[in-house]
Amino acid sequence: MTDSSHAEYRIVGGHPVLDLVNTVTPRLRGGDPERDYLTSPSELIAWAHRIGLIDLRDYSAVEGTWRSAPELAAKALNATLEIREAAYDVFAPRATGAAVAGDGVKRSEGSAFERLMLRWSAAAARSMLIPDPGRDRGIAELVVGTSPAQLIPDRLVVAAVELVRGVELRQLRACPVADGGCGWLFLDRSRNGSRRWCAMEDCGTRAKIRKLGERRRATGVQRFEG
Ligand SMILES: [Zn+2]
Repeated sequence: MTDSSHAEYRIVGGHPVLDLVNTVTPRLRGGDPERDYLTSPSELIAWAHRIGLIDLRDYSAVEGTWRSAPELAAKALNATLEIREAAYDVFAPRATGAAVAGDGVKRSEGSAFERLMLRWSAAAARSMLIPDPGRDRGIAELVVGTSPAQLIPDRLVVAAVELVRGVELRQLRACPVADGGCGWLFLDRSRNGSRRWCAMEDCGTRAKIRKLGERRRATGVQRFEG
């Protein structure tokens, strides 16, 4: 499985929730991941900032709260991982075309929706509508994450619910595991809908090299380099 892991974490999902799903590599159903990029609160906060989920002001608010209450940091990490797995259960069957495969998928999807909904209603309870007459659009602004301790999972689950409601399914793809890909999910926004790999630099290149090797073996061509 070394073949389909990533040397470094790349932001390729096209949406924060798909990037969240992709913090495990390779991303397989029931598989044993080789690498998990979110194993501690400090990894979580750095990742959230890197993908643009939180700005520097949020960062220091979250970090300060977590530093004074490590149990809240652990709680936020747990909530995030639960949202991650629920999002994977909801989106992966759609991305791989397994959604129509049968009951098993439907059942796990049902409970995944329930888990998302529970987390989402808790996040909604920690959100506020703030009237803002100075804004160009809308009368008020929705501020998600009024409690710094849970700000990261709160924003992620609200984003997950938005994605469930708004994703264009034909854009949702998985890096093809059957062809040596890593299973990461992404939105294919290419004009002709031809994106196949999470990143050409990772799985795409490896697949190309592998294919070349297979072709050489098939034609009996041997080449020694060095
Ligand atoms: Zn990949």
